[in-house]
Amino acid sequence: NSSKHDKDKGVNVQVIVRCRPLSEDEMRVHTPVVISCNENRREVAAVQNIANKQIDRTFLFDRVFGPTSQQKHLYDLAVSPIVYEVLEGYNCTIFAYGQTGTGKTYTMEGGARKKNGEFPSDAGVIPRAVKQIFDILEAQHAEYSMKVTFLELYNEEISDLLALEEPSKFVDDKSKKPIALMEDGKGGVFVRGLEEEIVTTADEIYKILEKGSAKRRTAETLLNKQSSRSHSIFSITIHIKECTPEGEEMIKCGKLNLVDLAGSENISRSGAREGRAREAGEINKSLLTLGRVINALVEHSGHVPYRDSKLTRLLRDSLGGKTKTCIIATVSPSIHCLEETLSTLDYAHRAK
Ligand code: ADP
Ligand code: MG
Repeated sequence: NSSKHDKDKGVNVQVIVRCRPLSEDEMRVHTPVVISCNENRREVAAVQNIANKQIDRTFLFDRVFGPTSQQKHLYDLAVSPIVYEVLEGYNCTIFAYGQTGTGKTYTMEGGARKKNGEFPSDAGVIPRAVKQIFDILEAQHAEYSMKVTFLELYNEEISDLLALEEPSKFVDDKSKKPIALMEDGKGGVFVRGLEEEIVTTADEIYKILEKGSAKRRTAETLLNKQSSRSHSIFSITIHIKECTPEGEEMIKCGKLNLVDLAGSENISRSGAREGRAREAGEINKSLLTLGRVINALVEHSGHVPYRDSKLTRLLRDSLGGKTKTCIIATVSPSIHCLEETLSTLDYAHRAK
């Protein structure tokens, strides 16, 4: 039984696939669909028949969500159990991995809040996780404290999505707050200069999230880069005060990282200009290292190459050991994305 085995080894990686629906534009031009999802059998099949080439591959995952799956459904099945683990003191990470335009940000952030503050049905994983965490803690009348960080990793450089400086300064390197990844001397890392916000209500986190994603978009426009090239990491750290049956006080600490990864498309597609090539190299470095780290954890090989990229250094305390990881691989159903879809499915499948 693999789950027992995983528990013994302290490794727990869950890999799920979500296929988005065709967009209106794609439907208008009758884009052929080449991906089929069988949620019950947890299978994704890629089928394409053209005269000289036939592709017919089926992949099995821990869970599969087809084009009609709703945000709440995915959350309840795949994410909610992980939030309980966080409140039990685990460090957990949820990654959205996939080609640009396949629904990573939709899955993680989802639709914006409605004007009256109502929770929309297309709210993504982050706002739902925040709500669930507060709901549980309130129901337990727990004594707790919570803080969040929101950062972006672009070209192996960290920027703080919660820092207060104006976006115009954001472009000026000299005025940019120096943010550095430092070793803490105990095998862990910390980010020097990173803003940590203490939060006491779910509404505060929603505001922080909105502010941070707006900033991500502004910085993108100003720097003329695409969101597809940066990773964003939203982290929630929770300390809960508990009493043991013996009446001793203890603090349980859990952390949830919600990661919207850079687009997984190939460097070959991203243009050959030098800066671009370097960027793509750095992006792939983090994505490739993440894949290697997860493979090493899943296969229990001795050396885990955390140090090979900033992304894996940043997440080191949440990958391996007493942690849970969930990778949500997002794909398009379109024939035009087939090549990238197959590479996403291969990457995701290797992580199992
Ligand atoms: P990515 O972040 O991977 O580049 P986005 O999340 O921006 O992709 O999604 C691209 C477009 O597709 C957006 O307009 C988004 O609203 C839409 N979309 C993505 N996934 C879904 C889905 N499961 N259901 C409905 N619309 C989706
Ligand atoms: Mg996105």
